[in-house]
Amino acid sequence: MTDSDHAYDLICIGGGSGGIATARRAAAHGARCAVIEASRLGGTCVNVGCVPKKVMWQAAHSREVMARAGDYGFSGVAPTLDWGALVSARDAYIERLNGIYDRNLDKSGVDLITGHAHFIDPHTVVVDGQHYRAARFVIATGGTPGRPGIPGGDLGIDSDGFFEMTDRPEKVAVVGAGYIAVELAGVLHQLGSDVELVIRREKPLRGFDTAIQDAYVEAIGAHGPTLVNHFTPAGLEAAWGGYSLHGTDGRSLEGLDQVIWAVGRLPNTDELGLEAAGVDIDESGTIPVDAWQASNQPHIFALGDVTDNPYPLTPVAIAAGRRLADRVWGGEADRHLEYRDVPTVVFTHPPIGSVGLTEADARAVHGDAVQVYETRFVPMDFALAPAEAKQRSTMKLVCVGAEERVVGVHLFGVGSDEMLQGFAVAVRMGATKQDLDETVAIHPTSAEELVTMT
Ligand SMILES: Cc1cc2nc3c(=O)[nH]c(=O)nc-3n(C[C@H](O)[C@H](O)[C@H](O)COP(=O)(O)OP(=O)(O)OC[C@H]3O[C@@H](n4cnc5c(N)ncnc54)[C@H](O)[C@@H]3O)c2cc1C
Repeated sequence: MTDSDHAYDLICIGGGSGGIATARRAAAHGARCAVIEASRLGGTCVNVGCVPKKVMWQAAHSREVMARAGDYGFSGVAPTLDWGALVSARDAYIERLNGIYDRNLDKSGVDLITGHAHFIDPHTVVVDGQHYRAARFVIATGGTPGRPGIPGGDLGIDSDGFFEMTDRPEKVAVVGAGYIAVELAGVLHQLGSDVELVIRREKPLRGFDTAIQDAYVEAIGAHGPTLVNHFTPAGLEAAWGGYSLHGTDGRSLEGLDQVIWAVGRLPNTDELGLEAAGVDIDESGTIPVDAWQASNQPHIFALGDVTDNPYPLTPVAIAAGRRLADRVWGGEADRHLEYRDVPTVVFTHPPIGSVGLTEADARAVHGDAVQVYETRFVPMDFALAPAEAKQRSTMKLVCVGAEERVVGVHLFGVGSDEMLQGFAVAVRMGATKQDLDETVAIHPTSAEELVTMT
């Protein structure tokens, strides 16, 4: 069978970050492409992920800034939030993005097929009874929020439900220790809700450097949300006066208007007909892929959140897809994404930025050859704030070897979100501590601390 026996050179299943990026790049290289999307174009990121989340963070951040206006002599700044107005402005923005994605596919010459796709054989998918054949496929179906299988679990909502809320809950428990949990908890807290962040272990944000975990826990200890740790949910109950979240140890959180589960995401592989295509999945349902994004079927690739990718982030799905298209249709034989030194930001208040190895990871690999630099300071944002309102920033550099190559940068503090990208370039390029020291500082900023650490 040759490529010309198929209607398409490439079909991407999933019109989210990864699928759209792959199809458009492949089309730019001359491939005949289609994207199949069951729901709204743009996928998780645009509709129920990064974009609406960042809008909500921006609203919360605005409130934070307004709360500090008095420090600078302003008076009469007493904002009240119209949640409905915020949500409708946010949703109108997303709708505009949906339209832009649609037009971009069209401009790139990529066909959009609307509906749910499943394989019936390794070269054919069916959507609404129509058969579509392609020489190659990219599975970029992403993931969906998981829920704990406990009694009453369905009474809570998940991150998708968070974006559907038409009102701000007065009292809410956010259950989960990952970045989505801390972000949603932070937004609701800043926007005026009474928030309990419920985690099973001691501290949230496992996988981040301990300096960041500690700085975050200290910050919320002083300013909220309230951390409820060592709490494993056993059941959720609707009672007069609100929901009750019961823990396995007998503790209960009472009088909750809302419970938000942010306990992990599940890959969208169960209704794809992967058996008919002969594509293997692992025990968690994700599709294992090699360095070239290939599944066990060499013509079926997978990327983004549906894979065992350690970085479930939009730019990672996009980068993997574009590189794949450059390799297969662009003639760049070795092009693929290296899954290392991926910068990531957690939109807490203040935000977290992290790239490269944590100190623990570096020590596990390099032992005593690891050198760490750390600083804590009050950024100028709080220069005029009363003592109890001051928030400290934390910065940590993890360096390795006699040349002190910087292998990790970990930030917590105002501006970390915008500060990290440039330092991620330096880490990728193999910058040393001396390179940072030789760089003239920008004063007065928080970023200058990164080039003046001793
Ligand atoms: C609350 C939240 C906040 C986030 N914040 C950030 C952030 O700040 N920064 C960041 O980088 N990442 C963030 N992410 C992660 C980011 O959204 C994902 O990593 C990214 O969207 C993954 O892209 P993808 O292409 O793998 O899948 P998706 O974007 O999820 O796209 C998959 C698409 O496939 C479609 N689909 C599924 N099955 C089928 C089928 N059988 N047929 C047809 N279509 C199908 C779905 O409808 C969906 O549109 C966030 C995620 C969440 C949930």
